[in-house]
Amino acid sequence: MSEAKAYAVQSATSPLAPFKFTRREPGENDIRIDITHCGICHTDIHQTRNEWGFSTYPMVPGHEIVGRVSAVGKKVKKFKAGDIAGVGCMVDSCRKCATCKKGLEQHCEVHTSFTYSNTEQDGVTPTHGGYSSHIVVDESFALKVAPDQPLERVAPLLCAGITMYSPLKRWKVGSGDRVGILGLGGLGHAGVKLAAAMGAEVTVLSGSKSKQADAKRLGAHDFALTSEAGPALLGRFDLIIDTVSADHDVNAALGWVKTGGTMVIVGAPPKPVPVNAFSLIGGRKNLSGSVIGGIAETQEMLDFCAKHKVLADVEVIAMKDVNAAYERMLKSDVRYRFTIDMKTL
Ligand code: NAP
Ligand code: ZN
Ligand code: ZN
Repeated sequence: MSEAKAYAVQSATSPLAPFKFTRREPGENDIRIDITHCGICHTDIHQTRNEWGFSTYPMVPGHEIVGRVSAVGKKVKKFKAGDIAGVGCMVDSCRKCATCKKGLEQHCEVHTSFTYSNTEQDGVTPTHGGYSSHIVVDESFALKVAPDQPLERVAPLLCAGITMYSPLKRWKVGSGDRVGILGLGGLGHAGVKLAAAMGAEVTVLSGSKSKQADAKRLGAHDFALTSEAGPALLGRFDLIIDTVSADHDVNAALGWVKTGGTMVIVGAPPKPVPVNAFSLIGGRKNLSGSVIGGIAETQEMLDFCAKHKVLADVEVIAMKDVNAAYERMLKSDVRYRFTIDMKTL
């Protein structure tokens, strides 16, 4: 066992504060990663505050993890000490069910071991995330990160990147497709960059006028303020990806989807969002959902990003400032992801 330094919450109402716990020694298929950076996902806020109702404590959040491999088990093939590796939202799954075999480990029929607020496959050992000094993970659930990239800008790809990449691929977005990205936060800005790199015509659909100038810089072709959306938006998009983290009007957004088009919900507001049947039946529209992506697809996404130079726009913070960063995210005040420099732990 090794002692890990971390930041954790003890309950839904306590702030993140220093914490120590133990991690296993690397087994024969495991690697140990000394974490250099961890992104802050809005899920970390939902989960630390038990907004979804299934949090477990103490909780060390963080599932946008990158770092340097510091030890490898004797059967490890993909990594050697010194390599850069990443870990996203999962650290294991049953690996045997039909869904795992399809590469959809996030939907494992038995048990996906999520990176934190969950358990290992034994069902009892708690998983702890990336707001910590190091992590030990089976190499099958670690991702290879191409060297010579700014790691603080790679970390957010491990969740925000794959969460947007997977639906863009599933709905076969390509050259000339009109894609709307609803909500310009961590997920949204990754979606803009990825969809633009795939050749789509991208529009940012945002509630924040102050983000208009950034939209173009991030690669969007157009920007629309959702509160002022007029007839020009109606029936315009082949695909909208809804990243909004709080209560919002899904029916308005469905109106902006073209006949036969699709809206994918990836944002996870704690309260249900009502959908009017008429929002769907009129234009025989599809309403879908998506959660991260499988391990192979996550590797494909990282390779795509390295090739197309897609990196997150980040504000690097010190570990002690994490509680303040959460408050800023709740005000949509982040351009566009906070990444924790784990040296500051
Ligand atoms: P974020 O950085 O906080 O961005 C969320 C954006 O939503 C904000 O920047 C804001 O964009 C918009 N927004 C926030 N509150 C709003 C409100 N009341 N009404 C309308 N728009 C609002 O969050 P994130 O990390 O991108 O995560 C977004 C959501 O996705 C969270 O619920 C998170 O849990 C979920 N998530 C899901 C998956 C998955 O696999 N499905 C993965 C990761 C995260 P504007 O300022 O542009 O309006
Ligand atoms: Zn996330
Ligand atoms: Zn499985």
